[in-house]
Amino acid sequence: MSERKRVVVVGAGFAGMSVAKKLAGKDVDVVLIDKRNHHLFQPLLYQVATADLSPAEIAWPVRSIFSRSANVSVFMGEVTGIDLDGKRIIGGDRELGYDFLVLATGAVTSYFGKNHWARAAPGLKNISEATDIRKRLLLAFERAENSEDEAEKRKLLNFVVVGGGPTGVEMAGAIAELAKQALSHDFRRIDPRDANIILAEGGPKLLAAFPDDLSDYTQKSLETMGVDVRLGQQVSDITVEGAKIGDDFIPSANVIWAAGVEVPDLKDWTEKPVDRGGRVIVESDLSLPGYDNVFVIGDAAHVKWGNDQTVPGIAPAAKQQGKYVAGRILDVLKGQSTPPFKYSHAGNLATIGRHRAVIDLNGFKIKGWLAWWIWGLAHIYFLIGIRAPALVMVQWVWSYLFRKKGARLITGSDAQSKP
Ligand SMILES: Cc1cc2nc3c(=O)[nH]c(=O)nc-3n(C[C@H](O)[C@H](O)[C@H](O)COP(=O)(O)OP(=O)(O)OC[C@H]3O[C@@H](n4cnc5c(N)ncnc54)[C@H](O)[C@@H]3O)c2cc1C
Repeated sequence: MSERKRVVVVGAGFAGMSVAKKLAGKDVDVVLIDKRNHHLFQPLLYQVATADLSPAEIAWPVRSIFSRSANVSVFMGEVTGIDLDGKRIIGGDRELGYDFLVLATGAVTSYFGKNHWARAAPGLKNISEATDIRKRLLLAFERAENSEDEAEKRKLLNFVVVGGGPTGVEMAGAIAELAKQALSHDFRRIDPRDANIILAEGGPKLLAAFPDDLSDYTQKSLETMGVDVRLGQQVSDITVEGAKIGDDFIPSANVIWAAGVEVPDLKDWTEKPVDRGGRVIVESDLSLPGYDNVFVIGDAAHVKWGNDQTVPGIAPAAKQQGKYVAGRILDVLKGQSTPPFKYSHAGNLATIGRHRAVIDLNGFKIKGWLAWWIWGLAHIYFLIGIRAPALVMVQWVWSYLFRKKGARLITGSDAQSKP
């Protein structure tokens, strides 16, 4: 009788989860390791950051998701290195052997070498960053209400979002709705509708991956919502005082960074070629060059698509890669071959506030409220894929559509407005 093989999966994001789900109940032992105890639905992070949803509505304990899968063990811990030839992963002073290794560690916020901007301009990649942004946004209104100084009030009510991709567009739209609708009647000494929301993008259009007419529609929609969209303007400095956009310095206590991501660590761990964003360049079966039992998937991998494109860093791509690699491992164990990974791109979508979205389904374009509903249904479908029974979904849709005020709580040790 042959010994059961151990598959170690590092990262319980979309990619790692889909490997573990497909291997659950199969004749292998799966060890799923993540430095966090939860799987996070990153596409809805901006709604936590803008106080539309609470963290528990977009994150679930990994352990509970696999509680009925006897062959899947979950470990909370940070992997710090790999011994490829010894087939071991390293986490601090502990080591664990593997037969197959799947690296699905995702990406982190990149400040393009200006890491000192992080203090003044948080990124949006995890729950603590989202709740930090939420606290900053809500405190800004509270402090402005308390302030006697007009310049300080202006600085507090200037909101700058850097980066005009989907996250920047979603953040700017959601902040505009927070200021101009949700909070509009809650203050007496300030009018939250006076908030300036600036969206700065260095390129010539918003949503670079979308067709021009959808980018134009997005820009006009945001402008109608009161967002000042600045295209072709580089952000050259960010401090706690504000941001320099093109030739203007905008005093702001609220700068949010939505401009880029990079993959840390894997270049050092694997000593294999990576692209400019640190993503490991993998083989056509998503394996690490020279190691057919080690795979890199999701945002951490540079995967060729067609002749000259790379697979985008989006959730459906990560899930497809996860499923493929689980199938590949099962094929290897059966002594079967597997065709190369083939990415299937359904399209691009982005929301602009609560009522509008843009969708490009490989050339078939939809915009406005219909696109928003399709966006909503697509996310519900994805969420159901992770865990949730129908009732949880109904609660989620309800709380999103009808604004749950509980998500607007300011918490944490520094959650007090200075008089
Ligand atoms: C704000 C935001 C909005 C987005 N919106 C969309 C959207 O609308 N649609 C869409 O399709 N995609 C969207 N994306 C992109 C999408 O979320 C990613 O493409 C997807 O999460 C990638 O999945 P992944 O499994 O590769 O990485 P991740 O989901 O990032 O998961 C990586 C996991 O690895 C863990 N990890 C990392 N390093 C270690 C380590 N050393 N040891 C242990 N664990 C580790 C992390 O804790 C994490 O759980 C968005 C991303 C962000 C940040």
